[in-house]
Amino acid sequence: MSGQANETVRRHLIDPAPRFRDRRNVLPAVFLDRDGVINEEVHYLSHVEELKLIDGAATAIRRLNDAGIPVIVVTNQSGVARGYLNEDQLFVIHQALIAMLGQKKASVQGIYYSPFHMKGEGDYRRESDCRKPGSGMLVAAAEEFAISLTDSVLVGDRINDVRAAHGVGARAIMVRTGHGAKETQSPEATEADFIADDLSAAVDHILGTMIKR
Ligand SMILES: [Mg+2]
Repeated sequence: MSGQANETVRRHLIDPAPRFRDRRNVLPAVFLDRDGVINEEVHYLSHVEELKLIDGAATAIRRLNDAGIPVIVVTNQSGVARGYLNEDQLFVIHQALIAMLGQKKASVQGIYYSPFHMKGEGDYRRESDCRKPGSGMLVAAAEEFAISLTDSVLVGDRINDVRAAHGVGARAIMVRTGHGAKETQSPEATEADFIADDLSAAVDHILGTMIKR
């Protein structure tokens, strides 16, 4: 597929376990936006001390783990382009996030992020297909984890998350946490396949009706 798009996609903490990677048997996955879905939205989160899990998020992820569904984080991190943090600091935040989830026996199989933005600095100043609503992160993860995008669901708190999912034929749930408090009220929110109060409610819907295991 699109090798060119994948060149700019960045990855942190990819789970090397091969159990989800049989290309003969592509699986549905759940893609999660990070800020406002898993952890509390903070304006350009750049310090690990600002990282706080949203209530019920870890348990919700664990339920997906228990159902054998790959869980992949896809997150725009233009704070890197804007100079609020560098990629090493972002890695520390992601290590802390994985550790916090691990304490609740929850895990994500990898974190895909886009550090770019048109208003960024240096090499980070660029248009990028990996920045949502672009599809680069989803396409890369689908190749690397043998995921069937059209059977998958993305959970996000912004319209751009919904559009990224629909761009690759996946379905999209918007949550009311984070920016979702506002964005679910906007007319564009009708583009979402479902609106849930939070990740926990989104996972109820996914396991109940969207992904059959
Ligand atoms: Mg978000």
